[in-house]
Amino acid sequence: MLTGGEGALTVTVRMKVSPEPEQQRAILDLMRRYRDALNYSIRAVLANKALSLGKAYRLLYKDLRKRYGLPSIIAAGCYREAIVIAKLWLKNPKRGAVPTVKGLSMWLEHELGYRVKGDHVELIGGYRLRIIGWDRRYDSFPNRDARLVFRDGEFTLYVAKRVPRPAKYAPKGVLAVDVNERQIVIGNSRVEQRIETPVERALRYRRLAERLQEKYSSSRYNAWLRRSGIRRRVRHFHRKARNIIEDWARRTAHIIVSLAKQGQLAVAREDLTGLVESLRRLPKDHRTALVMLGYRRLAFWLDWQAEKGGVPLLVVDPAGTSSTCPRCGAELVEVGHRRLRCPKCGFEADRDTIAILNIERRALSKMGGTLTSPTAPQVTDVSLNRWGEPP
Ligand SMILES: [Zn+2]
Repeated sequence: MLTGGEGALTVTVRMKVSPEPEQQRAILDLMRRYRDALNYSIRAVLANKALSLGKAYRLLYKDLRKRYGLPSIIAAGCYREAIVIAKLWLKNPKRGAVPTVKGLSMWLEHELGYRVKGDHVELIGGYRLRIIGWDRRYDSFPNRDARLVFRDGEFTLYVAKRVPRPAKYAPKGVLAVDVNERQIVIGNSRVEQRIETPVERALRYRRLAERLQEKYSSSRYNAWLRRSGIRRRVRHFHRKARNIIEDWARRTAHIIVSLAKQGQLAVAREDLTGLVESLRRLPKDHRTALVMLGYRRLAFWLDWQAEKGGVPLLVVDPAGTSSTCPRCGAELVEVGHRRLRCPKCGFEADRDTIAILNIERRALSKMGGTLTSPTAPQVTDVSLNRWGEPP
C-alpha cells in the first residue's frame, strides 16, 4: 500500500518538437514503417501466441529489421509494443476485430532510442528534433521511455518521468464535491460554488451524429456515400462530444484541487460506483451516457490531480447524502422544488447544499483525529492512500 510521501508517480511531460527540415520526410517515413511493422507484429504475436519478449524476438526481429528497415532498438520497441497491445486486446471480454493502429506514433526506449540534449532530441539513426517548448516543472527528474507522435502536422514527444509521490499535508478542513446531472457543487459549511456540466453542449454533437446516421442509413443513398464521408463525420461528432466532456473534467478537477490546496483542505467526493451502476440500468440514451462519462472522468482526474499535488482525498459513502439531515441525521421531508426540511430540528436547505454538508461531515468523521485546526500544532502523521482510506 502506498502512503503519503512514499513511492513514485509516473507523469508525462509533453514536448513540442520539430525535426530539421531536411530530415522531416525521413522521420515520417520511419514512423510509417514502424506503424506497418507494428500492425504486422500484433497479428503475428496473436497468431503464434508469442506474448513473451523472447518468443516475439525470435518470431519478429529479423523481419522488422529486414522487411521494415527498422533500427534494432526501434525494432525491439516495436514488438514490445505489439505484445502490450495484444495482451490488452486479449483481456477485453468485448473484443472485436484484432486492433489496427492507424496514427503515427513510435515508442522510444530511454537512452537507447532517444536522448534529450539541451534544446534538441536525438533519435536513434541520427535524427535531430528541436524542442520548441515543454513543461519544465519536472526537469530535475530522469527521463524514462517516450513516445513520438505525429498528429495534425505537428510532432510531439511524450516523455515519461518517475517523480516522487508528494507527501500529503494535514488538512485543516474539507472541500466536498457533489455531482448531479446539471452541475457539480463544491463547498463546505462555509463556502459553496457551482459549476455547470457541459452535458448539454456535448449532447448537441451526439444529436448531430445521430441525425446524420439516420439520414444516410436510408437506402436512397448509395453505399459509397454511406460508407466513407458520412461515417467520418459521424465519428468526428462523437469524438467532439467526448472531448468536450474530457476537457471539462480535467479543468474542473484542476480548479477543485487548486482550491483545496490553497485552503489546505482535503477533497471529499462520493463513491460513484453505485450511481454509475444505477444509471447503467436506465434506458440507454445519449444524455445518460454523457452524464456517466462526465462523472467517471471527473473522479479519475480528481484522484490523479490530488495525488500529484499532495492533496488528501477521501471517498465517502453516498447513501442518503441528499436526504438526511446534516445536523441531526433525521430523514428530511421535501418542502419545495429541491428544498428539504428536517422535521426534528427544523434545518432547511437546498438539496445540493445538504449533500455538500453531509459529504463534509462524513469526510470529517472518516479523518477522525487527524484534522488540524489553524491554531493547533500541525499533525504530520496523516497518511491517506490513493483512495483516501486511512491505513
Ligand atoms: Zn435535523
